[in-house]
Amino acid sequence: MTNNKYKILLVEDEANIRALVTTILESAGYQVIAAATCAASMTLYASHRPDLILLDLGLPDKDGLYLLKKVREDSLTPILVLSARSNERDKVEALDLGANDYITKPFGSAELLARVRTALRLHRYSSREGRLPGGKFQLGELVIDYDARQVLIAGKEIKLTQTEYNIVAFLSEHRGKMMTYSAIIKAIWGASDEGSIKKLQVNMANIRKKFGAVPGKTWYIQNELGVGYRMNGDRE
Ligand code: CA
Repeated sequence: MTNNKYKILLVEDEANIRALVTTILESAGYQVIAAATCAASMTLYASHRPDLILLDLGLPDKDGLYLLKKVREDSLTPILVLSARSNERDKVEALDLGANDYITKPFGSAELLARVRTALRLHRYSSREGRLPGGKFQLGELVIDYDARQVLIAGKEIKLTQTEYNIVAFLSEHRGKMMTYSAIIKAIWGASDEGSIKKLQVNMANIRKKFGAVPGKTWYIQNELGVGYRMNGDRE
């Protein structure tokens, strides 16, 4: 059954973390190929074409972002950034360069495996153009009818403005992926200026209200302060 396993490229220079993550992934049934440097990871990527990449940013030879850029030149292989950096600018840069998500160290094995599963599933999902047959999107009780530009929750229509709808539809098309403020602003308004972040936040507050989101409770759209928004991938 070896051929049926997902192949994961793990790029991490710290030997103990590399060993730990390898053990976690292998015991969950994944095949792991590991590299400790950016150069070695480039070679492994080219020869193995893994299904997913777990990428540490702080590497001894080159920044992990270098591999990220190289891979994105010709492939949508899911990339999860594995980093001790809690710096928002690093997260934003990695996401804008095409990383699918990031995991901040230290992390538990359950979180790691959940993120890997989600990234693999979303990749399959997006390779089918991210839409359900009939031009509809469904996540829990939320249904988006792209053709009618209609949003329903539990069968009830939510009346959104054109801009609000565009934001919700955009996030749904990138479900599970953290979209940075500037990526959303560019997609919705076509410009990237300071004032637009405010505009985005105002629209998002209205969407929240119309969706009937309860403060403190998870809802369909997650906000990472200073980074962006993500439509949850796990609520199915
Ligand atoms: Ca490192």
